[in-house]
Amino acid sequence: MAQPCVLLKYGELALKGRNRGAFERHLLRAAQRAVRTDGAFVKIARRKGVLVLSSKELPQAELVERAQGVLGVSVVQPALRSARTPSSAAEAVLQLLTERFGEPGGVSRRFAIKARRRDKTFPMSSSTLAAYLGERVCKEWGWPVDLGDPEVRVLVEVDEHEVFVSVDRLRGQGGLPAGSSGRALVLLSGGFDSPVAAYRAMRRGLRCEFVHFSGAPFTNPSSTYKAYALVRQLDRFQGHSRLHVVSIGDAQRALATAGAGQLQVVAQRRLMVRTAAALAAEVGAQALVTGDSLGQVSSQTLSNLATVEQATTLPLLRPLLAWDKEEIIAEAERIGTGQVSRLPDEDCCSLLAPPSVATRTRPEQLSAVEGRLDLDELVPKLLANAQVLTPGGS
Ligand code: ATP
Ligand code: MG
Repeated sequence: MAQPCVLLKYGELALKGRNRGAFERHLLRAAQRAVRTDGAFVKIARRKGVLVLSSKELPQAELVERAQGVLGVSVVQPALRSARTPSSAAEAVLQLLTERFGEPGGVSRRFAIKARRRDKTFPMSSSTLAAYLGERVCKEWGWPVDLGDPEVRVLVEVDEHEVFVSVDRLRGQGGLPAGSSGRALVLLSGGFDSPVAAYRAMRRGLRCEFVHFSGAPFTNPSSTYKAYALVRQLDRFQGHSRLHVVSIGDAQRALATAGAGQLQVVAQRRLMVRTAAALAAEVGAQALVTGDSLGQVSSQTLSNLATVEQATTLPLLRPLLAWDKEEIIAEAERIGTGQVSRLPDEDCCSLLAPPSVATRTRPEQLSAVEGRLDLDELVPKLLANAQVLTPGGS
């Protein structure tokens, strides 16, 4: 009997200009973390351009589901593994068809067999092997061959030690394994946008650290609970996530007292960015990530984005800059953060929000307000009082 397994493939395109060895190491680690969540034993073998998962403890469907959460994997392929001979491969193909379509004699389907040799020492050429296997299927199942437009496409892959046969090719998460591009610090609110921005950043290979600003002591902890629950969801994609919670209620009040007026929201945003930049230096993050989308709300006009960005020298990445709200919400549902973002909370931004927000600002306007606070003293103090949480377990 051929044994069930799951093949994980990454697009060759993902590797363009990259160091293959490092990419594969990150991918292997990501796969290990994603599939061995509950301590179940899953064997992971490395083949040329492929990772092979197998487990005696978990059903194949469960392995497939876990594999579909791994960043950097473009195709997830449930497969059967057989010995490396033409006759064993034929038995595996017949077994696969029975598992997938019941016993022979049912509905007739047009089929094609595509064989590929990753190991060229196999004694038969790919086309001879495909023809041989096709003949067996014709004989046992009575299905007609149709190479042009088959209903069932059987893929046979000959490797160095074994043969894999499969009929389904499922989509993986795509992108690059988290950590393969470096480290970033995400400014995470309780809304829809920033968790999606974090996911997109991870999917481009950034390992993410998170910071949430709460309005404490003037708001209740609901926004912090949401941030915690969001990081827990996002942790599935990278593991060992850390959430820093910084209370800025008093600082927000100080800005208001300093006469920020219509500039209050932008001034708060600059304070967040400044504090995040200092934290980034502590945790070794090379960039900041926000959920900003151009023009979505009045604080996100081009001039406000520019004024906020000017508060740091770090690159400020905005993966959702050109996304519509509907696109963002659909993605939030897909990655499982939507249900958390939807919960009500007391966000620090609504605290002290002016009746109208300035839509055209310049950094010089802000320096007047900020000059009345001692930022060099304030920022380290905010960070000294920050709380560090590990929502995904440490
Ligand atoms: P979101 O859905 O992420 O809350 P938003 O559409 O509500 O975004 P804003 O509230 O203007 O937009 O925030 C823009 C970005 O600033 C957020 O995406 C997030 O990256 C950052 N941000 C806002 N509030 C906070 C907060 N309390 N803590 C951390 N980051 C925040
Ligand atoms: Mg928000």
